[in-house]
Amino acid sequence: MPAALVRSVETFIVDIPLRRVHKLSRAVLTHQSYLIVRLTTADGVQGIGEATVPGGPWWSGESVEAMRALFLNHIAPLLDGRDIFSANAIMAEIDQVAYANAALKSAVETALLDATARTLSIPMSGLFGGRIADALPVLWVLATGELEADVAEAQAKIDAGLHRRFKIKVGRGDPGDDARRAVETASAIGCPCSIDLNEAWSFADSTRALAVLDGSGVDILEQPLPRADLPGLADLARRSSLAIMADESACSTTDMISVIRERAASYVSLKISKAGGPSRMLAIARMAQAAGINLFGGTALDSSIGTAANLQCCSTLPLAGGTELFMPLLLADDILEEPLIYRDFCVEVPSGVGLGVTIDDAKLRHYERK
Ligand SMILES: [Mg+2]
Repeated sequence: MPAALVRSVETFIVDIPLRRVHKLSRAVLTHQSYLIVRLTTADGVQGIGEATVPGGPWWSGESVEAMRALFLNHIAPLLDGRDIFSANAIMAEIDQVAYANAALKSAVETALLDATARTLSIPMSGLFGGRIADALPVLWVLATGELEADVAEAQAKIDAGLHRRFKIKVGRGDPGDDARRAVETASAIGCPCSIDLNEAWSFADSTRALAVLDGSGVDILEQPLPRADLPGLADLARRSSLAIMADESACSTTDMISVIRERAASYVSLKISKAGGPSRMLAIARMAQAAGINLFGGTALDSSIGTAANLQCCSTLPLAGGTELFMPLLLADDILEEPLIYRDFCVEVPSGVGLGVTIDDAKLRHYERK
């Protein structure tokens, strides 16, 4: 294969409003920001990647503003004139230049692999051995903070044939009250539900809440404790009938070694943005798979671009818990020419070359931060 050299790189910060306010334990979102990286090869092939941190720097310390500055000053020079078929070598060099910054590295690796797959005229999933599913189950995340509004929203999703599993975001109120609200919501909906704390509870909070949650329609407890408290997660897993899902606790392969050693979780939430790109996300997934931990397709509230990238990766894995790749439906607008397809309680994996999606340049310019 002849070399395909990077001729130019561009970045765009875009701010896309949400259809409704999204309340997490430590952030309230009215819009979501993205850093889009686009590279063009000498042959005119483009590759795109997206760096996403959900709701700002509270999650990982990264922000779109800091990522863009780091990219322009330290990473873009490494890409200039490089062969896109050397993604592994380029990513290793980037690791030598910049510690951490997983979401930015994910955008860069995604753009390189998108361009590689487009040059080969195959979907990106083909670079990972090919997909084992063309559509993946997708849950909806309930995060209005209000029981009645969450139930009404869930019912509309069920009626539309879009979602029949739900995740309830809690952690802003009293743990007992939050747990009771989640149980009442799950009971009213009549569908399986998980809850996600984003590290908001202490161990004492969690044991108190589990007294309410055990035996209810809530079946998965996602990241109740701070990410470093793996012994605490393991203790909760032993005490509860709910499955424990590691999200913030499982960002890297090193994290995954600890999660496995501590037996801290029976599910892991996989996201390219927290792992540092598709390759590392797949490495984490293989470790979890070998340890008998269920694989779940997580989201960092990715737009359609990041969602397509996660779909290209997740479709090659034996997921046990489906996905939560719902965010394109919560965004008030899409920056793709053709939106992703959600139907029959699943999201379809784009079948075209590369990521299988094309940016609408007019929309990109409309939502670009001025
Ligand atoms: Mg989570």
